[in-house]
Amino acid sequence: MDTPATPRVNRQRTTRSSQDLLEANLISPSDVAAIDAVNEHFSIAVTPDMMALIDPADANDAIARQFIPDPRELETRPEELADPIGDIPHTPVKGITHRYPDRVLLKPVHVCPVYCRFCFRREVVGDNGEGLSPAELDAALTYIRTHPDIWEVILTGGDPLILSKAKLHHIIQALDQIEHVDVIRIHTRIPVVDPSRIDAEVAQILKVSKPVYVVLHTNHPQEFSDAARTACATLIDTGIPMLSQTVVLKGINDNPETLTQLFRTMVKNRIKPYYLHHGDMAKGTSHFRITIQEGQALMRALRGRVSGICQPTYVLDIPGGYGKVPIGPHFLQKQEGDSYYVEDPWSQMHVYPPQGS
Ligand SMILES: *Cc1c(COP(=O)(O)O)cnc(C)c1O
Ligand code: SF4
Repeated sequence: MDTPATPRVNRQRTTRSSQDLLEANLISPSDVAAIDAVNEHFSIAVTPDMMALIDPADANDAIARQFIPDPRELETRPEELADPIGDIPHTPVKGITHRYPDRVLLKPVHVCPVYCRFCFRREVVGDNGEGLSPAELDAALTYIRTHPDIWEVILTGGDPLILSKAKLHHIIQALDQIEHVDVIRIHTRIPVVDPSRIDAEVAQILKVSKPVYVVLHTNHPQEFSDAARTACATLIDTGIPMLSQTVVLKGINDNPETLTQLFRTMVKNRIKPYYLHHGDMAKGTSHFRITIQEGQALMRALRGRVSGICQPTYVLDIPGGYGKVPIGPHFLQKQEGDSYYVEDPWSQMHVYPPQGS
């Protein structure tokens, strides 16, 4: 990395308050009251690794904007929802979301090492949320055991890799022993935001008889510090495939150059870009959302310019709990008589003839 012009913020422990942010010179005394007001609703946490990447001189720093509260978080739009992707109606037992027949979310924890200001589960994720007690975890595992249609279990939360090694081991072992569960998936931000947690021991815990996929939540190429790359390599070298999910965020990564750099960085680190999420309608997050039209234009800009293995699927989680669907640009138009117009990556149209004629 280049040597920064200004010293980066160097802290030993997680930043959790306006006072911490003030000491780090990331806010001014006049911001304190507004930040405290936000903090009453939505927890603050910025790990030392992420603090070290922030340039306090850059008012639009891509890391700072993701984790440092903004007074606009208290501005709620009428279309915004407390449960934006409809987890609640699909919760048969505490800690389980069962929306699709073949896979469930298992949410053992409600805390994260960082709190993303645009978090889609921000009403339930945070220091005041509720994780699963041992009895509740047992009940959630029993639900999975007694539903033979469940092919895949997705650990999410909160960030499941924040669990103690003993708890993580217990859950992975339990899932590995359920006959009808073929695949285990973990959604996490830890390899980039708190990479020292990913050591050989954690990698070994995840190395079980069933495939364990790790899906990394990462939104900006700047997040890939040397330590983050090493953490990902530790998992992948153990035989754990990695995919990614990214949220498109206004002013942070909503331009083709940043996304190109991000997806190339992932692929260079053996991580396959999986989803680019359109921002969910979580409360107080409208300042992060772009329009679907803008998102499609971004995907169009990547098509043809950037390797196919660097292309994620642009998805929308339909508000209300109706599932995730691809909303990327389309290149095909049906014409009279079953022929098609197909658009190439350089916007030229071509006729594709009807089949069988
Ligand atoms: C996002 C999500 C999944 C996973 O969806 P994939 O398309 O398989 O990645 C599963 N269940 C719920 C409830 C989800 O929100
Ligand atoms: S890591 Fe995920 S669950 Fe945690 S605050 Fe960020 S978006 Fe929310």
